[in-house]
Amino acid sequence: MEDMDLDGPDVVKKSRKKSDTVVPVKLTGKSRLTFNCHPGVKCFTACCSNVNIALPPYDLMRIKKRLGITTAEFLKKYGEIEILEKTLLPIVTLRMGDDEKRSCPFVTPKGCTIYEDRPNICRYYPVGMATLRKQGAEKGKDEFYFMVKEDHCKGFEEEKQWTIDEWRADQQADLYDEMNRGWMEVLIKKKSFGQHEFPDRKNELFFKVSTDLDYFRMFVFESSFLDIFEVPAEQIEKMRTDDVELLKFSYEWLKHALFAEETMELRDNEEVTKRKTKIEAAFTKRKAESGKK
Ligand code: SF4
Ligand code: SF4
Repeated sequence: MEDMDLDGPDVVKKSRKKSDTVVPVKLTGKSRLTFNCHPGVKCFTACCSNVNIALPPYDLMRIKKRLGITTAEFLKKYGEIEILEKTLLPIVTLRMGDDEKRSCPFVTPKGCTIYEDRPNICRYYPVGMATLRKQGAEKGKDEFYFMVKEDHCKGFEEEKQWTIDEWRADQQADLYDEMNRGWMEVLIKKKSFGQHEFPDRKNELFFKVSTDLDYFRMFVFESSFLDIFEVPAEQIEKMRTDDVELLKFSYEWLKHALFAEETMELRDNEEVTKRKTKIEAAFTKRKAESGKK
């Protein structure tokens, strides 16, 4: 027997709506849908209010770049910090307006003002993604798709046919998935620990690195980071000019910093020896102090 896990792992689920609008049929990339969305549909922009839109790092990076603003400015004007239910990790979501409909800050009667850089969840709609958990098989789960059908959405009355893979490619949702993959892996890993909360400093680190590439750039290039970790020269050069390369590297750093995964290699030099000695001394001191209590 199979159990649909439509509630998680949090933002891995790419549906913006409540589960009562979900069609309970498991779909694959080859499944067909008859649907189209364009400015000519009667319901144009009806789906752009009262929605919960999580912004993974690549989504946030694209929107901030388009608007030419910093993370702090984005949070003040458009964002909210939300603690994910299953992972207890802080992420950024889009803050809906305080009008009656709770409209998205980027919607106008003419459509989405950030259309080319719209979030991945908007790209997927009306397709959702979830994981499947087989009962009795602890780790036997995989991803699948489902449809979200809401009364107001008239796109299903259109004649255009797609497979879900074609829809994802047309909307560039596959690119966004690829760009956020390492970050999703961090969430899935955290979820596997159950409701175990990280200490504040780890939550802060996760949030900072996930939302502020400028901060991470300074951390890598303007601290002793590159004296401590071995990073191939070619990769360092790419990261200096290519934000996507730096973003992907930030996911590897998160895996190392949060879960001690061996995604980073320590250099063998004086700086590293000094740090190791300092950490060992602090550890011994803490152990001795806790023994006295
Ligand atoms: S970001 Fe654009 S597509 Fe997404 S809800 Fe807002 S207006 Fe609609
Ligand atoms: S409600 Fe459906 S058809 Fe209408 S604009 Fe939104 S996605 Fe397109």
